[in-house]
Amino acid sequence: MSESYDVVIIGGGPGGYNCAIRAGQLGLKVACVEMRGKLGGTCLNVGCIPSKALLHASEMFETASTQFAAMGIKTGGVELDLPAMMQQKAEAVDGLTKGIEFLFKKNGVDYIRGKGRIAGAGTVEVDGEDGAKTLSAKHIVIATGSEVTPLPGVEIDEDRVVSSTGALELDKVPGKLILIGAGVIGLELGSVWRRLGAEVTVIEYLDRILPGMDTELAKTAQRTFAKQGIEFRLGHKVTGVDTSDPAKLKVSIEPSAGGDAETLEADTVLVAIGRRPYTEGLGLETVGIEPDARGFISNDHFRTSAENVWVIGDTTHGPMLAHKAEDEGVACAERIAGKAGHVNYGVIPGVVYTAPEIASVGKTEDELKAEGRAYKKGKFPFQANSRARTNHTTDGFIKILADAETDEILGAHMIGAHVGEMIGEICLAMEFQAASEDVARTCHPHPTLTEAVRQAAMGVEGWTMQA
Ligand SMILES: Cc1cc2nc3c(=O)[nH]c(=O)nc-3n(C[C@H](O)[C@H](O)[C@H](O)COP(=O)(O)OP(=O)(O)OC[C@H]3O[C@@H](n4cnc5c(N)ncnc54)[C@H](O)[C@@H]3O)c2cc1C
Repeated sequence: MSESYDVVIIGGGPGGYNCAIRAGQLGLKVACVEMRGKLGGTCLNVGCIPSKALLHASEMFETASTQFAAMGIKTGGVELDLPAMMQQKAEAVDGLTKGIEFLFKKNGVDYIRGKGRIAGAGTVEVDGEDGAKTLSAKHIVIATGSEVTPLPGVEIDEDRVVSSTGALELDKVPGKLILIGAGVIGLELGSVWRRLGAEVTVIEYLDRILPGMDTELAKTAQRTFAKQGIEFRLGHKVTGVDTSDPAKLKVSIEPSAGGDAETLEADTVLVAIGRRPYTEGLGLETVGIEPDARGFISNDHFRTSAENVWVIGDTTHGPMLAHKAEDEGVACAERIAGKAGHVNYGVIPGVVYTAPEIASVGKTEDELKAEGRAYKKGKFPFQANSRARTNHTTDGFIKILADAETDEILGAHMIGAHVGEMIGEICLAMEFQAASEDVARTCHPHPTLTEAVRQAAMGVEGWTMQA
């Protein structure tokens, strides 16, 4: 006999688990099917959370090693204990995944362990730890997320040639790490291993890092990372990795535009060229859903082409970010419950958790120029912010873009310490369609880094006072 649900969600990542919790809150009978053995998806298990645990710990290690003395702190030597660093990361992950199980119980969500497969309209078959199960569902939500995009000619063994997943688990610091791809994930993990002692070289096909982000931010970030010791080979592609020598990997590269090939040596190669939707064995054909050429399932307000089958998160279009998946999960559950769930795709922030951090929301200058939209900008350097000076974190700036006529904030781009926290203020302002003057005239506490946001907003109308 099959168990009946209002909603069966396949995938327990930020899209799926938030959708399940919200559906439970709205009184729907809901099950979430997850095959990983743990809830939380890529984000909690092999993404956002473990990477941030290592970024935080490695930043503390570097700060203690290089900056304590200047602040009058004598430590008597700083030493890396990598197994302990990995252990604290595992504990953070473990606590958070168990937290979701608790939230499922609290909100009446059935957690079903196993691989889910759609078997025609209204049916999900689960191949689970306790054998096979059939669930009948008024609504099915696809939240199966994404997987690492492979690079032709380079075989990932998660030992010497790793994806982000392997790079979160290395058992020793590589002498030389070659990082393929200068996107967010690569730069974060490259920063971790550089701080812990690896020599890091980044090979990037394009002639810039952080594609899609504001060009001025990306250029400033590259200069800062280069000062920290990361070497960049932009405009180059990796054509193969020779693993035959057990002592050294040999990485073949050549200019993207054509030219002479070169061979670089490395102990570890990290492939970080992106992620692609994961829908393997999901039974999409049984309900007539065809992913596009890149594997994404299209949606109209989360509805797929099949009746009562919905899609959210990395499996559908838009930025592959946990909070985008979460927002879609919430809005999708609300729509299933007959409410007007909505996601504002114009206000989805993106953060790179390096040091300094990099954060963006809304339109970039390049996008506004391409649209032909007249805009004004205000910019403020952390060099002129009192809190940044006391903290010795004066690298970076805040830039706010506003409509030339209405003054509505159209975007904000920041690089500096803690900007990942500060971007939330601009997200809220943009949600309320605030003008830059609204932010400029809002009292901010002194001395804080957030005063730089206010000063940048003042700058839009040309009255920055502290620089
Ligand atoms: C190293 C790294 C760092 C990242 N850092 C950040 C960050 O700092 N901030 C941020 O916003 N994003 C970050 N991301 C991206 C973020 O992890 C994803 O955008 C997010 O996890 C997407 O959520 P999702 O629910 O769509 O999919 P996922 O989190 O991928 O979850 C999908 C789940 O579905 C399960 N599943 C798949 N198929 C089936 C099936 N047939 N049956 C049952 N279960 C199934 C999978 O096991 C998986 O657990 C990072 C990613 C990586 C790899």
